[in-house]
Amino acid sequence: MADGTQHGRQAVESIRALFPDPVPILGIDIDGCVDEAPIFFRILTRIWPGQVFVVSYRRDRAKAIADLARWEISYDQLFLVTALDEKAAVIAREGIRIYFDDQPECLKAIDALTSVMLVRNGGNFDFDDQRWMFSDKTGKLLQ
Ligand SMILES: [Mg+2]
Repeated sequence: MADGTQHGRQAVESIRALFPDPVPILGIDIDGCVDEAPIFFRILTRIWPGQVFVVSYRRDRAKAIADLARWEISYDQLFLVTALDEKAAVIAREGIRIYFDDQPECLKAIDALTSVMLVRNGGNFDFDDQRWMFSDKTGKLLQ
């Protein structure tokens, strides 16, 4: 008969087996995300024990690198995409398992294995009305 400790070890091993890397790859957006809370992302990216990938809808790579340096963001790779829906493809291809972004358009095609963190800003939240903003393509209104 198995004791509680053995069941605990089995549970931990089962959870570890779900992830090829015990420390998930962290992914972050830049605009409307890092620039909304640079202190948070500076601390998070500097203490994250795994890889950090930046995924941004920008064309100017040099400017992205300069902005990340200015905010003291620590990262391993920078991926620039030319369409919002390309982010989900990069996230799947690179194995990102925790991802921060501010645009639901970028987040809806990300698979269920990836934890998604939506950053609030003036583009997705009406601070005067205190309500989230979304379109028919990104949200359902609950009745
Ligand atoms: Mg953004």
